Amino acid sequence: MIGFREAHEAVMGSVAALDTERIELSKAYGRVLAEAVVSDIDIPPFDKSAMDGYAVRTKDLIRPPVTLSVHDTLAAGSTIREEAVEGTCVRIMTGAPIPHGFNAVVMFEETEEREGKVRFDDPAAEGQNICRRGEDIERGRQVLGTGALIRGPEIAVLASVGMVRVKVFRSPRVHVLSTGSEVVEPGQPLSFGKIRNSNGPMLCSLVSNSGAEVVYLGIAPDREKELTALIKKGLSGDMLLISGGVSMGDYDLIPGILKGIGAEIILHRVKIKPGKPLLLARRERCIIIGVPGNPVSNFTTFHTFIKPALYKMMGRTDHALHFVHGIAGEDIRKKGERPQLMPSVHRVVDGAFVVEPLPLNGSADIVGCAGCTCLMFVEEGDQNIQRGEMVPIILIEL
Ligand code: AMP
Ligand code: MG
Repeated sequence: MIGFREAHEAVMGSVAALDTERIELSKAYGRVLAEAVVSDIDIPPFDKSAMDGYAVRTKDLIRPPVTLSVHDTLAAGSTIREEAVEGTCVRIMTGAPIPHGFNAVVMFEETEEREGKVRFDDPAAEGQNICRRGEDIERGRQVLGTGALIRGPEIAVLASVGMVRVKVFRSPRVHVLSTGSEVVEPGQPLSFGKIRNSNGPMLCSLVSNSGAEVVYLGIAPDREKELTALIKKGLSGDMLLISGGVSMGDYDLIPGILKGIGAEIILHRVKIKPGKPLLLARRERCIIIGVPGNPVSNFTTFHTFIKPALYKMMGRTDHALHFVHGIAGEDIRKKGERPQLMPSVHRVVDGAFVVEPLPLNGSADIVGCAGCTCLMFVEEGDQNIQRGEMVPIILIEL
């Protein structure tokens, strides 16, 4: 059986950034830029006032106090063509172009205006309160590179350089298939021996929240014909997630079906608890991840294997599984060979993460996972962690 870290590497090694597409800027939040973008203009495009105040000539204010008459008023968006006239100033609003011949702006707060005359009590420094043309970025300079994750500031940058359509990496199309003859959709009658499908809705939500496109295939009973039909349908996307049917039971048919349709099994079974039966396969362009049916394994597997793989396919470079340190808020005992991912809650105490595992009743207990904010990683073998010791955690809600 392969170790957790090697399995993670195998998953990450089997996916790559997808092809690219050009989309509307308004749809680009959360996507990754697939081209370098240069500015088509100087930013700012002209010398402009950084303040509401008066445009002045510094040489008129050399010996304060000085009184200047107001020659004109200039709103943002308007211009005046005349040259500066000696002994005058221009009322100017933030963002308005500096009229020709003026070389400083004095804020309203530092002056006193009465009947068209303004009193200045201090000299002004050349260039004060003026944003120079091109001082943020010069025309032709790169503003964003390939691989930039597009969020608030990046949207604003792209808008500033007139990019109404941007080239981004395509978002993966992910098919989600629930399996199990005992599994019924929530909202359907629940007869004896059946359980509600909690994995399907959870996986679909987690996938779509990660920025991928999700297609739900429904529930297949543990019968070869139905399973094969739905699996084949799911192979048309970039990733197929199958929950259940990958363990060692008589009706865990997924590995055999995948082999039968010509998929390459990359790995099966990982030394981690929960999530041991994890299966990774590929058929042509489609990566297939078989997740054990127990809901807690579904959840931990999503955060440790599936989400990082989806991020990489989206072109994101921040897909590494980061372990940060938390302080154990209680004594933690763990038995058994495999390392364990414990759904946990962390809180910030005096600027540090204090973390406590949720009291779970085994890997079927998804109810006990409610409120989970991180996964605590407990190393293999028997472990006896004392309260106050440092423990590695994977944050899942940043
Ligand atoms: P399996 O991996 O198919 O052996 O399933 C392991 C356990 O998870 C069994 O108790 C299943 O009933 C349960 N299970 C499988 N699929 C789901 C699902 N979609 N929602 C909730 N529990 C499930
Ligand atoms: Mg099953």
